[in-house]
Amino acid sequence: MDVNTAEFVSSFTRAQQCPSDGVPEFAFIGRSNVGKSSLINMLTARKGLAKVSSTPGKTQLINFFRINHRWYLVDLPGYGYAQVSKSKRKELAQMIEGYLMFRQTLASAFVLIDSNVPPQKADIEFVNTLGANGVPFAIVFTKTDRLTPGQLQNSTRAFFDALSPTWDTMPPHFLSSSVYRTGRQDILDYIGNILASL
Ligand code: GDP
Repeated sequence: MDVNTAEFVSSFTRAQQCPSDGVPEFAFIGRSNVGKSSLINMLTARKGLAKVSSTPGKTQLINFFRINHRWYLVDLPGYGYAQVSKSKRKELAQMIEGYLMFRQTLASAFVLIDSNVPPQKADIEFVNTLGANGVPFAIVFTKTDRLTPGQLQNSTRAFFDALSPTWDTMPPHFLSSSVYRTGRQDILDYIGNILASL
């Protein structure tokens, strides 16, 4: 699949406000600074579609983009901001969970994991929560251009090792670099295949 059209629809503060037109959605989420905006811009080949953050924790809305007049790309706020107050973090977590757990039109989420850092508690807990609630998702390891192939293999293995106590079969995963556009076609084809199966 390729992206022919991509346009911003609107931003929402709560899942209940999001469009109810039955269009399938693919949602992107990860910790602050994971490379989510860069990945969205890379996938859509639109430089400024998602704002690359200068301040961590800036995107705190659910942003909808219409792609190919066929599906929505949903940019969710990041989780686990150290800089944000506890009450604000709780509010954000409720917003994210309210969307992911109850959204009927969610075809798949993509959980972004920075391949440059060791497994983070917040990421493992988040992935386990999605699994426990039956939310369909794939993992995208970001910023792979910063690692050698050996380092990258160790990094993904460490993450899957951290998941192994709770997972029998690992969720699907992709390797991405927004610098070299790595993973773009694989992720878009994955989305295309899901759309074709609906
Ligand atoms: P967000 O906060 O998750 O939306 O992350 P951004 O897309 O704003 O990226 C955070 C930082 O990581 C920025 O300085 C980006 O230039 C950098 N970055 C994002 N993706 C990549 C990547 O694939 N490779 C490299 N080397 N840097 C990246």
